[in-house]
Amino acid sequence: MINFVDPDRYHSMKATGKLPSPKGVAFSIIKLLQRDDFRVPELVQLVQSDPAIAGRLLKFANAAAFGRTRPIVSLQRAIVALGAFRVRDLVIGLSVMHNHKSGQCSEFDYGAFWAHSLATGIACQELAHFAQISSEELFTIGLLARVGELAMASLYPDEYSLVLLKAKERGLADLERDSFNMDHRQLGATMLAEWGLPDMLIQAAYHHEQPDLAGFRDGSRVLTLTHSLNFARSLAEVCMADEEARWSLLPGLLTRAARLGISGDALNDMVDRMVRRWREWGAMLQVRTQEMPPFAEILAASPPSRRVSSASPEQNRTVAPPRLQVQLVGIPLPDLPTLMQQIEGLGHLPMPVDGNPEAIRNALRQPTQIVIADMAIPGLKPATFCRILRQTPSGKESYALLLASPGSEGLILEAIDAGADDVLVKPVSIQTLRVRLNTATRMLLLREEIQRERRGIMRSTDEFAVTHKRLLQEALTDALTQLPNRRHGLDFLASEWAFAQSNGLPMACLLLDIDHFKRINDTYGHAAGDAVLRQLADLLKRASRVEDLVFRYGGEEFAAVLPNANPRAAAQIAERIRSLVEKYSFLWDSRSIPVTLSIGVANLNDAEMDSQGLIQAADAALYQAKNSGRNRVVVAR
Ligand code: GH3
Ligand code: MG
Ligand code: MG
Repeated sequence: MINFVDPDRYHSMKATGKLPSPKGVAFSIIKLLQRDDFRVPELVQLVQSDPAIAGRLLKFANAAAFGRTRPIVSLQRAIVALGAFRVRDLVIGLSVMHNHKSGQCSEFDYGAFWAHSLATGIACQELAHFAQISSEELFTIGLLARVGELAMASLYPDEYSLVLLKAKERGLADLERDSFNMDHRQLGATMLAEWGLPDMLIQAAYHHEQPDLAGFRDGSRVLTLTHSLNFARSLAEVCMADEEARWSLLPGLLTRAARLGISGDALNDMVDRMVRRWREWGAMLQVRTQEMPPFAEILAASPPSRRVSSASPEQNRTVAPPRLQVQLVGIPLPDLPTLMQQIEGLGHLPMPVDGNPEAIRNALRQPTQIVIADMAIPGLKPATFCRILRQTPSGKESYALLLASPGSEGLILEAIDAGADDVLVKPVSIQTLRVRLNTATRMLLLREEIQRERRGIMRSTDEFAVTHKRLLQEALTDALTQLPNRRHGLDFLASEWAFAQSNGLPMACLLLDIDHFKRINDTYGHAAGDAVLRQLADLLKRASRVEDLVFRYGGEEFAAVLPNANPRAAAQIAERIRSLVEKYSFLWDSRSIPVTLSIGVANLNDAEMDSQGLIQAADAALYQAKNSGRNRVVVAR
């Protein structure tokens, strides 16, 4: 359920003219696609009128092209390949970005916003390939998932600055509701709905911050989409973070990835590819991006100063306890020498921190493995101290031990609540300190072990993800020829048929059968027959256009789907293939085997015919070609 902004209120917000909105060509495309009778050529013409957008669409279509080796060079093809509605969504996204690169809200970082949104969009697009979500409009929803925040900044620049300042402590949506009686998710969803984006994408955008609270059915497409967007966003955060912050974001990212069945090398490759494309698109769209090391390297590295176990984990159990760095914060000067001596005596490395607030805050940002702090640090409440400590990635893992003066026990509970690991009441004896530091060491080792275990779990989900992907690949590919198999091909045919049908575009289907193939088997042997099938598959792939799909229909029969090919083009392509095969030298055992093909061609021209009918018509034409002498092309009537 989406809680949209009240229509009257939305109307008056729009009337201010401050609400981000698609302009120019994007606006015209929205209007065009609202008409039932729009035709693709009109869309092509509109897009052509804006060369910048046209260029981006071409690039996008090429990036999205599945399994195609040759580039799409015409705008018409790009638009057909993407589909009219994806083109619309994409142009909306690019237009809103183009027109809102900067603004009045001082606390809103417009550059970072678009860098993050672009990264989310590209990550989404990578997922579309990976998680077998077929929609490229995922890019757009990634790009626009946070558009509500941009809108808030545009509508209420000053008030929103205050909200953003406070948001460092409290949830953004809560604060927005307090100040504006609506939040960015509601406003964003209302805008996306007005622009006509598909409902499922709006649902995903609305719920992606907390997918599990959306109440979507397990296994539903919308839930997968929402999780995908959530993952894409967390990957975008990793891309935007500095090295230190990145470290703390990794576990969340890995968990989300595992949930989508992506891990190991597949994840590494995907992240690296995503970063590369982010930087490429960033340069093209003038959005700032930053470099990131290969993902495998990021995962392999752990912050060196944080490591407790010096060598291998096995060694650790037998040798003396490791030497740990112990930060001493706010310890009253008279107590300091004794404490340092005790810590050194226990084999650890004491590191006193100056007592002034600035030095303390600095030290807290780079805490060591163990932090011992006096609860009476001037100007800093123990609970605040712990909260600051726990905010940094390394601070989350530190062992925090507080020293309380007799009488300050009242504050102990509060400090523990705020994240302290342990509290000691002064004076502290060397025995007590030894016991507590040993506990700390054990805790730290345990934390490392948990980390290691988590990596182990990641490895096994890896294997699962790899197997899953391979099985999927196998299920769609013919083992002998490595062409798409019949099931995959017929699916493709059905979807291209539907697209051509609804857009009034031509398309054709070819059925190709080797002449007297049985004789080849009989004369040269079955293995030679196999070799011919493989060589023919390669030849057919090379002879077809980028947008065509050639697949193995069965035995020695192949089929080709030719999107957007009119009857003349289809007949020409068929004839070209026939004559190529006739002239080609199929080799077996350094002997040349003569091969010819009979081809049936069917064109989409009968509105009542479905995709099944199209292939049947091609089959009938093929039968005629066989009957009238073989090695020829017959076009179905
Ligand atoms: P036509 O010109 O009428 O098509 O004659 P044909 O011999 O090509 O047709 P027919 O359907 O009689 O025989 C097809 C042969 O293809 C029979 C089958 O053994 C062979 N075949 C089917 N799949 C394979 C394969 O994967 N490898 C090999 N080597 N032979 C195959
Ligand atoms: Mg046959
Ligand atoms: Mg045959």
